[in-house]
Amino acid sequence: MQSITILGATGSIGKSTLAVINEHPQRFNLFAVTAHANVAEMLSICARFNPTYAVMVDEQAGLALRQQLLEQRSSTEVLIGPAALLDVASASEVDTVMAAIVGAAGLLPTLAAVNAGKRILLANKEALVMSGQLFMDAVARSGAELLPIDSEHNAIFQCLPTAAQQALGQADLAAHGVSKILLTGSGGPFRELPLAELAQQTPAAACAHPNWSMGQKISVDSATMLNKGLEYIEARWLFNCQREQLEVVVHPQSVIHSMVSFTDGSVIAQLGQPDMRTPIAYGLSYPARISSGVAALDFSQLSQLTFSTAEAARYPSLALAIEACWQGQAATTMLNAANEIAVEAFLGTQIGFTAIAEICDRVLNEIAVIPVSSIDDVIAIDQQARQVAQRWVEHYRLC
Ligand code: NDP
Ligand code: MG
Repeated sequence: MQSITILGATGSIGKSTLAVINEHPQRFNLFAVTAHANVAEMLSICARFNPTYAVMVDEQAGLALRQQLLEQRSSTEVLIGPAALLDVASASEVDTVMAAIVGAAGLLPTLAAVNAGKRILLANKEALVMSGQLFMDAVARSGAELLPIDSEHNAIFQCLPTAAQQALGQADLAAHGVSKILLTGSGGPFRELPLAELAQQTPAAACAHPNWSMGQKISVDSATMLNKGLEYIEARWLFNCQREQLEVVVHPQSVIHSMVSFTDGSVIAQLGQPDMRTPIAYGLSYPARISSGVAALDFSQLSQLTFSTAEAARYPSLALAIEACWQGQAATTMLNAANEIAVEAFLGTQIGFTAIAEICDRVLNEIAVIPVSSIDDVIAIDQQARQVAQRWVEHYRLC
């Protein structure tokens, strides 16, 4: 039995993870689930899976959950507050931690799991974007086993030779015959929209992804393609890429989840349905394979696979992220923080869609890129960037 903690169990990735676990009751045991404040979803998870612990970050929600579980005579114990996230991520009973909290809030719990040497299924890309080398050094130090869940990185991982998989974060790609990693992205819901109409797009339109069903924040990131920018940074750290070894390719059908190009002219791709249960099942069972509940592709229904480059004028956030990636750690920490503030303001209809990239640009231009040598430095830069971004939100506020 593999004992599992799911950080962010009530979210899109959390629910897909539970769906895979549900298919294999003899194989997986749910130790802990965590959420921010969603009591109704937590109650339903506890009733179905009976985890040992349920963590609520929000105090009122935690008290309400505890009361209702008591009334139902549930054996699940409720822990309340952010420190409990770290406890259930690092507990000695746990083998595997699914890191699926959205945004910077996932950094410390994910690092707690890393430092405790767990198998980490990394969905929370923001944690790695914020802390890059520090995160990978902690993995190397603790002997944690890091497996990428983001579909593109999971695809790339699947395409790499076993020796490169085993040296994740430190592999010399060229020595393994890899010439380039090709990160695919759909281009989001606004790929064909006239550029002049971008500014008026609503949160509902931005969240209506053509292929994937995901949480709100990553859906907006997909519309700006900052998601691909964050993934570019994520790939740089996971696969130890040089600048010339990493490229973004627009592929609207989301059938190829990413590709690896080799020195002999071969290109290996991973294909599948746009359904996160496939990479999640791979991470849970690696190096074996188990059923995920996802049907195989039906090639008789696939008429075409198309590819193009990302239009600079449509996706300014992507270029910002690529520049930040090679500028230094502080730049990517700032970009992530500024984006989280701007996306939240956009979802709250305080700013327009195109203001998201403009706010990120303003923050990157305003704050100096200083050296980062500790997680405390990361948190300080994150906080500073949030304050500056909040000021720019006021500047761009819709009347
Ligand atoms: P969701 O918004 O659907 O879920 C987020 C989860 O995090 C929820 O369980 C939520 O709890 C919890 N949470 C939110 N804020 C906090 C906080 N401050 N402290 C603790 N927990 C918190 O997100 P997704 O599942 O879509 O994404 C999760 C991560 O996975 C992101 O980093 C995303 O980039 C990545 N990812 C997602 C993919 C997808 O298909 N969805 C694909 C690839 C990567 P509550 O419900 O109580 O608010
Ligand atoms: Mg992805």
